Amino acid sequence: MLHESLEDNMEAERTFGEYILECPDCGAEMRLVNTSVGRFYGCVTYPECRGACSCKPDGSPAGIPGDAETRAARVEAHEWFDVLWKSGRFTRSAAYGMLQKFMHMTSDDCHMGRFNKHQCEQVMIFSKGLCKIYGLRYVGSNY
Ligand SMILES: [Zn+2]
Repeated sequence: MLHESLEDNMEAERTFGEYILECPDCGAEMRLVNTSVGRFYGCVTYPECRGACSCKPDGSPAGIPGDAETRAARVEAHEWFDVLWKSGRFTRSAAYGMLQKFMHMTSDDCHMGRFNKHQCEQVMIFSKGLCKIYGLRYVGSNY
């Protein structure tokens, strides 16, 4: 599995409680940075490159860094998926349960932050389909 070997790499490169990631946009290092909007892994060549990856409270990387296109697809997939439970039609856990079945994934693997572009497209097909069946409205990022 691709992300398992990636996580092994992260573990091997762990130093001083941090992980060094490779920027998917430019191949430079990504390091944990503290900013006014929170902590995340940012590309060391910022602002030239805006590669970023979120981190968990313990400072380990959340998900797998994606390139700009993948990140945009993840955001869009998340917005569509969130309609399912934000609309009140399903609970959040029920929505995730259905998505896991659809994606043939376990709850450990089924995180938007791990998905590649193709998987994000699958999420959108799944979410848009349910929205259509149940007459849920896509509210977009202004919601
Ligand atoms: Zn970069």
